[in-house]
Amino acid sequence: MSTLSEIARKVQKGEISAEKTVQESLDRVAAAQGLNAYISVLPEYALEKARDLDRRIASGETVGPLAGVPIAIKDNIVVAAGKTTCGSHILENFESPYDATVIGRLLAAGAVPVGKTNLDEFAMGSTSETSAFGAPVNPIDAGITPGGSSGGSAVAVASGTVPVSLGSDTGGSIRQPAACCGIVGMKPTYGRVSRYGLVAYASSLDQIGPFARNVADAALLLNTLAGFDARDNTSSTQVIPDFTSALGGSLKGKTIGIPKEAFGEGLDAGVEASVRAALAACEREGAKIVEIHLPALKFAVAAYYVIATAEASANLSRYDGVRYTHRTSNPKNLMELYSKSRSEGFGAEVKKRILLGTYVLSSGFYDAYYMQAQKARRVLTADFEKAFAQCDVIAMPTMPAPPPKVGDIFKDPMAIYLQDIYTVGVNLAGLPAISLPVASTEGMPVGLQLIGRAFGETELFGIAAGAERSAAGMGAG
Ligand code: GLN
Repeated sequence: MSTLSEIARKVQKGEISAEKTVQESLDRVAAAQGLNAYISVLPEYALEKARDLDRRIASGETVGPLAGVPIAIKDNIVVAAGKTTCGSHILENFESPYDATVIGRLLAAGAVPVGKTNLDEFAMGSTSETSAFGAPVNPIDAGITPGGSSGGSAVAVASGTVPVSLGSDTGGSIRQPAACCGIVGMKPTYGRVSRYGLVAYASSLDQIGPFARNVADAALLLNTLAGFDARDNTSSTQVIPDFTSALGGSLKGKTIGIPKEAFGEGLDAGVEASVRAALAACEREGAKIVEIHLPALKFAVAAYYVIATAEASANLSRYDGVRYTHRTSNPKNLMELYSKSRSEGFGAEVKKRILLGTYVLSSGFYDAYYMQAQKARRVLTADFEKAFAQCDVIAMPTMPAPPPKVGDIFKDPMAIYLQDIYTVGVNLAGLPAISLPVASTEGMPVGLQLIGRAFGETELFGIAAGAERSAAGMGAG
């Protein structure tokens, strides 16, 4: 499949029509229906947008840098067409009256949303299996999960239905599915991309980002997504550089920090071997590898699950059976309307997290859990800052083990939470990070994660592209 810039160039020049490009994508979506990557498809909407682009091109108008590029959107990002379910029965029939800021930006750049992708309910999970609409299937191997929570967006790209898609990452939900499906997934710095129209899970951690088949496409897509938005009060006013500007750079003189704490107990030997081989290839291309320390990484999972659930319990209180979609029938009084609507509408994982979040915020436990977690968050953020005095990027696996097998999450949920060890700390510190597929020694997809300085996406993409080229030299796809 062509890269984003190839597609856009051909459409802009009239070599192929946007309509044909989008129709072909819709055909591939239909052919791959069995993978359950999409909760809903938007054929009429997408074709109308494509025809409109073709008309504008025919009349000599200049169209945007993503003209005619079909894109899949995680179903917790609102589009003013079709439904936005968040993978939950409670929003099963919810129709958004407005577009998320990122959707407005994509449309202005000429990209065409073709459908809404499957996810863990309200993005809570790491395997996409908590979706109320059944789990998406990993095209590499149906016995392993595609990762989560943005599993549908990863499958949509990995199976070739679209060249790029959007996910959201609160604690790894872009990077983990990218690793599980053998593609690229990137979480920008907190504040880089507007969260307006992203249904909130944990507002201080949530960030929208791209999935792509290569680093260059991810960087190009971020150029369109990023930018200040007055409708998101955590949106950053930092200037937006051209994220593709360092892509051709060499790895010579770049320093990659390897945290000692990330390569110890609990790391699968096969994953470690793949990641170390990829780093050795970077070293051969001129990168310098140094050991660094993130002593507070050991607190990351605990702190994350306290903070994320606390924020979720507050954010999800808005689903009360009065607004939005699911409402119980014949409640006896207002309290019963609330409790029955919520009991019927939410799935087990979401209920578990609301209970946990309510508990850690309750008086008497607030200091013991929530305050402690906030302290751990500050210490970990300081650890990262210290580490970046010694290196340009930090490298570690995206996940400590190969993709979870289908059904594992229901047998041992704690084991799956612990697999968030390498991703959640990045959200707690608000940093940008990317997961790249690297050659696997055991036939299972493995992700190499590179973490950048806050607002250092351009350099991060540059080094990631270098790592991608070195990995290709090793024979990886
Ligand atoms: N696995 C993490 C969780 O379940 C992260 C999810 C996410 O990034 N949305 O909360």
